[in-house]
Amino acid sequence: MKKYDAIVIGAGNGGLVAAIRILQKGKSVLVLEKHNAPGGFATSFKRGRFEFEASLHELNDFGPADNPGDVRTLFRELGVEDKIDWTYGTEAYRAISLDGKYDATVMLGKENYKKSLLRYCPGCEKYIDNFFDLSEEIRRAQAYTASVNGKTDKEYMKKNFPNFIRCGSYSVNEVFRSMGMPDKLRDIMNAYWCYLGAHCDDLSFIHYCSMVYRYVTKNAYMPKMRSHEISCALDERIRELGGEIWYNTPATGIVTDEKGEITGVRISDGTVIGTRKIVANCSPHVVYGQLMSPDAVPEAALKNANARKFAGRGFCMFLGLNKSPEELGITNHSYFIYDTLDSVKQYEMMKKIETNDCQATCCLNSVIPDCSPEGTTMLYFTTLYMSDDWAKVKPEDYVKTKNFVANRMIDVFEKATGAKIRDSIEEISVATPMTYARYCGHPEGTIYGYESQYWDGLMPRLQMMNEEVYVKGLRFAGGYSMRLSGYSSAYNSGDIVGRQTAGELVREDN
Ligand SMILES: Cc1cc2nc3c(=O)[nH]c(=O)nc-3n(C[C@H](O)[C@H](O)[C@H](O)COP(=O)(O)OP(=O)(O)OC[C@H]3O[C@@H](n4cnc5c(N)ncnc54)[C@H](O)[C@@H]3O)c2cc1C
Repeated sequence: MKKYDAIVIGAGNGGLVAAIRILQKGKSVLVLEKHNAPGGFATSFKRGRFEFEASLHELNDFGPADNPGDVRTLFRELGVEDKIDWTYGTEAYRAISLDGKYDATVMLGKENYKKSLLRYCPGCEKYIDNFFDLSEEIRRAQAYTASVNGKTDKEYMKKNFPNFIRCGSYSVNEVFRSMGMPDKLRDIMNAYWCYLGAHCDDLSFIHYCSMVYRYVTKNAYMPKMRSHEISCALDERIRELGGEIWYNTPATGIVTDEKGEITGVRISDGTVIGTRKIVANCSPHVVYGQLMSPDAVPEAALKNANARKFAGRGFCMFLGLNKSPEELGITNHSYFIYDTLDSVKQYEMMKKIETNDCQATCCLNSVIPDCSPEGTTMLYFTTLYMSDDWAKVKPEDYVKTKNFVANRMIDVFEKATGAKIRDSIEEISVATPMTYARYCGHPEGTIYGYESQYWDGLMPRLQMMNEEVYVKGLRFAGGYSMRLSGYSSAYNSGDIVGRQTAGELVREDN
């Protein structure tokens, strides 16, 4: 059987990008995907007259063609930018708290972001300007770090990016408090936290600010034909470059030699396909716990994986409605509905099915009016569970519990927004943590990989990425790796890991 320089396990965002990077260096690649389509979470599905987006609310750090963000630049380098029909939204979010304290609509674009925040927090210009200045310094520090492949010069960093260093290990709340920011402004600016899935006492400021600043300055982009369009473009590019993708082919084992080095990947019929490198787009828990033989897993690798915390387990409800957004009273694209805008308290409430009323709800028609047939609307509602509470649901109670959460999501949305949707539902589909566990194989149905923690956020993971290669030739791309989870992050980690793997192959072959 043919051998490959590298095998990528999983055709999610991280895996697809890594494969292209390796192919671009002239090395052979096989992608193994257990599902019958590319993308992992980045996909779509049809119910009746509706083609639903499975996950993407908006793509971070893409930007317009003449002022590209890092992800557009990456897609340009990969050769896929023009394979996709792009559009974008200009609204950041409407944040509503059920405690009645907040109903704030925040816009994208620096001036509009500031203007919209000032409507709710008059006199707060200086805090928003300080945030922009700090964000810009962080952006430049990150660009410099990337340009020297992480081998930064200490003195240069201290001289040019002192505030980046100062806030390096602090949380969002710590930095905002030290800036003297009023609570109301902080609460509204923190509303994006659920996109990163850790509360703002834990979430690294640098990570959060990088995401917010990139949404604000580069707008919220999305493909016109759902994220499936991106995944298909990446699949097409892999084939153009001579790579292979085998669908319906789960990797069932990773084979190493007596030195502990990678020699192959086993598939479900028992065949072992030879390779020197593996990029795993699935979790380290799956790789070390299921794919490798226990004696081949270094102790440090196990300790590392077990020290980490699973991020939010996903629940998503998709509605196809037989009225237009105007008829339903839906005016926004992206709703964050929280019990409270205090992220720490909200996070606690999200540990239990009974107490979680948080939802991030998107109306795709607000950005892509013709995404569903005329006179109809598509809504998708997402929430996260910050503990494995769904594991306690008995099989006989599963449908009841699913209906309970879905019903409550509809009630909460109607109450918070004043829109009337219940009587116009034509299609409904619900995904629980069990769905996500089965669909992408993620433990406990987590949809965000390992949670960002103060000791395990963006900066520590980037700094430790080389030390975390415990098995020679095996690297991780996607939501569990050094850029953490989210579309852009998964693409970026695929880029890093693909280039590292390709570099190693080139060095070995010369
Ligand atoms: C409902 C929802 C809403 C979201 N909203 C947003 C958003 O608005 N913005 C944002 O940035 N992010 C969002 N995310 C998160 C984002 O989708 C993920 O972070 C990202 O897609 C993860 O990509 P990944 O590379 O980790 O791959 P995954 O999507 O996790 O895919 C992994 C792939 O590996 C395959 N696989 C696993 N095990 C094996 C095996 N043994 N053999 C072969 N194949 C295997 C799986 O089938 C899958 O295709 C959302 C996610 C969900 C579910």
